[in-house]
Parts: sequence; C-alpha cells; structure tokens
Amino acid sequence: MPVYLDHNATTPLDARALEAMLPYLTEQHGNPSSVHRYGRAARAAVDRAREQVAELVNAHPSQVIFTGCGTEASNLAIKGFAALNKPGLLAIGATEHPSVAEPANSLKKNGWHVSVLPVDRQGCLIETEMEALLKLRPEMISVMWANNETGVVQDIPALAAKVRANGGVMHTDAVQAAGKIEVDFSASGVQLMSLSAHKLNGPKGVGALIADKSVEMAPLLQGGGQEKGRRSGTENVAGIVGFGAAASLAKAQLADYGARMRSLRDRLESELRALGDIEIFGAQASRLPNTVCFGMRGVDGETLLLNLDREGIAISSGSACASSHREPSPVLQAMGIDPEVAQGAIRVSFGAGSTEQDVNAFIAALTTQLRQLRRMTGRAVG
Ligand code: PLP
Repeated sequence: MPVYLDHNATTPLDARALEAMLPYLTEQHGNPSSVHRYGRAARAAVDRAREQVAELVNAHPSQVIFTGCGTEASNLAIKGFAALNKPGLLAIGATEHPSVAEPANSLKKNGWHVSVLPVDRQGCLIETEMEALLKLRPEMISVMWANNETGVVQDIPALAAKVRANGGVMHTDAVQAAGKIEVDFSASGVQLMSLSAHKLNGPKGVGALIADKSVEMAPLLQGGGQEKGRRSGTENVAGIVGFGAAASLAKAQLADYGARMRSLRDRLESELRALGDIEIFGAQASRLPNTVCFGMRGVDGETLLLNLDREGIAISSGSACASSHREPSPVLQAMGIDPEVAQGAIRVSFGAGSTEQDVNAFIAALTTQLRQLRRMTGRAVG
C-alpha cells in the first residue's frame, strides 16, 4: 500500500464531504442567483456552508467571501486593499507562501514599498525587527499563521494587536493552520484571513477570504456581483458545500486530530534523532502538530524524494528545481539554514488517515535510502 505523507500539499477529500457534494453535482444543479426552487436550494446550500466555514474560525457568516482557492483569497486581500489605498508600506513575513509574496511584490510597480520581516533560525519573526517596522506605520502587514514547509506557527494575535494599534490592516494566510490548530478570527484581531478547502479534507478549487467589514477592497473579478460584489462569478456550489462539510468535520475533530498528529510527529522525530546527523527545522518553535521538516548533509532531497516515491512513499522535498540547478527552499534560506543541509530537506506531513505503520514504513525506507545515498557519497549513516 502506498503511504501518503504529503498532507500539507493537499489532503484526500473526506468521504462525508463528497457525499454532501454529490447532490449539487447531479440533481441539485441550480444557480444560487436564480429565484426558482432550484436556485433557492443552491442558495440555501451555499449559505449553510458559509455558516460552517465561519464556525471553523469563529467568524460571522457575513465575513466569508468564497473564492476559487487560497491563492485567490490572498490576492484579493492584498491587491484588493492596495487598489483602494494610496501607495504606502506593505510588510510581509520572510517565509510567506508565493500566493502572498507574489501579489505583494507586484505592488512595487504601483509605487508600494514592500518590506520583508526577517525570521530567526527557528522560523519565528524577530521581535525587534517587527517593532522597528511597526514604527514606520505600515498600511498593511501580511504574515502567515502557519508555514507550509516547516509547520512553524507565528503568534498572529499578538502581532495583530500591534498592527491595529498602529492603525494598519493585518492579513494572515491561515491556509495551513485552519483545521489543524485552533484559529479564531474574531479573537485574533486580524481583519483579513485566507483559507483553502483542500488543505482540510475538502475539495480543490475553493477557498475563502474572511474579511472584517472595516476593510474596503476592490474586487479582483467584476461581473454579476456575487458574494456581495466582492467576488463575481457563479458560485462553485458543490465545492463550497464540500468546503462547509469539511470545515464542520475539522472543527468537530480538532482536539482528537491534534493529539493523534502530535503522537505521530513525536514518534517520527525520535526515530529521526536516532538515525543521527539530522536537523529538524523549527524544532524549538511552536509548530503544527502534523508537520516535520528536516534536513541532512550530503543528501539531495529531491533525489531522496524520487527514490522514496519508487518505494511507495509520498513526501515533499525542500528544494525546487530552478533551471539546471536545485535551489534550496527560500523558507529555509530565510531561516539561515546551511544550504548544504537545506539541500537535503524533506517534509513529512501527516493527515487524518495517517498511522503508526506509516511512520514505520517511512523510517524503514528512509534508512535504506540514506545508507545507499551516503554510500555513494562516501558518508556513513550515523
Ligand atoms: N498558502 C499556503 C501556506 C499554502 O500552503 C498554500 C498551498 O499550498 C496556499 C496558500 C495556496 O492555496 P490554494 O492551493 O488553495 O491556492
């Protein structure tokens, strides 16, 4: 049986979410904007899902804007806000996902100044740098709740309080956090928050921006005025219903999920430490319970990934192919990880269906692969 340990890339659709979706892919085919019974049924389903997504993050249903993905949610937050404000200062974390970093950087051509908040070796924002930046009174700050590669969790409520005290708007990409740890939109004090269904056992192609009504944004898509004019386009009814169902399940299972993931993670980490010569990134930071990102010298993460895939184990590596050479992950670079160690980075991310057997299978395959790879490069397995 193949072993899937890449849940931060995407999760399998929960069978109960699929079941909730099926009627809206078949007989309930109405357009929520239609006034007849088909339309009304679709509208009711979207409204129910809006409540479910809002409940997951303790927001008001009116604050939920359904989008086509988490990427779109962050683009709407950043570009939508910038479009209605005079160019000023936008600050983002050094380990942001490209769905935040790219739209932020694109604003430079419109006269915005973009500052990058550095992180320490654990992947956490550096307090003194943050304070210095806040003195410049940025118009907007975008910092992710939890990092997709390392699982490192930032103290978003503390940061949001400071940003608001300085009169700025705070956006957080909570795509990896929601459904894995407690995320409370209302209590956090953030005004904008991005979510994505496929990271919490919902379908791909649907996300949401949770937006406080105090923040005005220009829509990215104009047309029929759906989502109160903030995101035109006929709603992906089945996708939204699946998102709602998955959000509801994630909320109900949160405590149990957290405990199970933590026990798998702790088990994996103690096995990794026993192998020796391995660095677990962000080990001292607060992290998602399902994520372990580690690196080692003398091994190419991408080669290891491909070899493990051949053995039926799906994980991610921390390096990305850039033309003819491999670049270590920008996240690990920002943390100041030695490039040689970062080159050998591997991310394991557990999910609801992961088991102890998966950990055993992974460790057995990794041990074999490391022995082979290190033999080729003349390094002993520790
Ligand atoms: N933000 C983070 C932290 C992610 O990990 C991802 C997905 O990999 C996204 C945003 C993008 O979400 P989506 O795939 O729904 O566009």
